[in-house]
Amino acid sequence: MTVTVLGGGISGLAAAHYLRTVNPSSRIVVLEASHRLGGWIDSTKHSDGVVYEGGPRTLRVVGNAGANTLALAESLGLRDKVRSVHYGEPSAKNRMIKVNGSLHKLPNSLKTALTKLPPFSKPLALSAISDLRAKKVLADDESLFSFVNRRFGSDVARYAIDPLARGVFAGNARDLSVKALAKRMHEVEQKHGSVLKGFIKDRKNAEKPDPGLAKSDLVQQARKEKWAVWSLQDGLETLVKTLAEHLEQGGVEIRRSSPVLGIQGSQGHLVVQTNGEEIQTERVISCLPANHLSQVNPVRFSV
Ligand SMILES: Cc1cc2nc3c(=O)[nH]c(=O)nc-3n(C[C@H](O)[C@H](O)[C@H](O)COP(=O)(O)OP(=O)(O)OC[C@H]3O[C@@H](n4cnc5c(N)ncnc54)[C@H](O)[C@@H]3O)c2cc1C
Repeated sequence: MTVTVLGGGISGLAAAHYLRTVNPSSRIVVLEASHRLGGWIDSTKHSDGVVYEGGPRTLRVVGNAGANTLALAESLGLRDKVRSVHYGEPSAKNRMIKVNGSLHKLPNSLKTALTKLPPFSKPLALSAISDLRAKKVLADDESLFSFVNRRFGSDVARYAIDPLARGVFAGNARDLSVKALAKRMHEVEQKHGSVLKGFIKDRKNAEKPDPGLAKSDLVQQARKEKWAVWSLQDGLETLVKTLAEHLEQGGVEIRRSSPVLGIQGSQGHLVVQTNGEEIQTERVISCLPANHLSQVNPVRFSV
């Protein structure tokens, strides 16, 4: 069986990796439009040794997704290259935001959450009361900003969520979907009428830790040492390069400078069109950003 993975960013490379793990005999082709792999992950090391990240700079450990990425790095032999930041360290504890030309430290302890600190107009902890009081609004989806504004008040939306969305997603919280980014927060509000009440009442439906991931030595170490975030020596692109090498050694065909132009159905299989070439394939996994996938000629099935 041939499987074609569209996009050679970290999603496409990871998809090819797990596919190879579960299906060692299939032919896997990764098509990447650019001459380089990694998509947004783009690390540059300058002559003074400092690494600059053009996109993501750190990865979190929390949740199964966070643990899984760390376990992946370990399985690729990157353990010695992992660089961690622990919760107690200043760079993890101190989040600064710039408002009207001045820098402000975001509250990071119970004491500071109970104190009125600029730019907030009241102690941050009082936002919890807003959430308990605010009426539920039945909504299939809305922007992250509007959701937080409605539940926790405008201070939290403007001074915490807006900069957070810019830092994490390089996006505007007013345009980003709450359901896509904070699905559980949205779900518990819709079910229980309040985010905080919902998290308490709905504990049994919270994500359960995957016991398989707890076997990873690095995940165990990260949990024990309370890592906040981690990266790799020479930047996150080390993960991309190592993963790509591993895939190519495992027989995965990675085609750079090969934009996907169209996908068609033909006589029981799919045909993926790229630069002057057509790849017959049984399955396609798209790891393209939605706005790029929408540029690919629509799938037409003639079977
Ligand atoms: C500025 C910024 C900072 C971020 N910081 C963090 C962070 O610190 N921590 C964190 O966890 N996340 C962070 N993120 C999010 C993270 O970078 C992304 O979630 C992740 O890199 C997305 O990977 P991807 O493979 O899904 O998409 P992309 O990285 O966008 O990769 C998509 C790939 O598809 C290719 N492609 C596009 N069109 C075609 C086509 N027609 N044919 C073939 N290939 C095509 C592109 O060239 C690209 O290589 C950040 C994002 C940004 C933008």
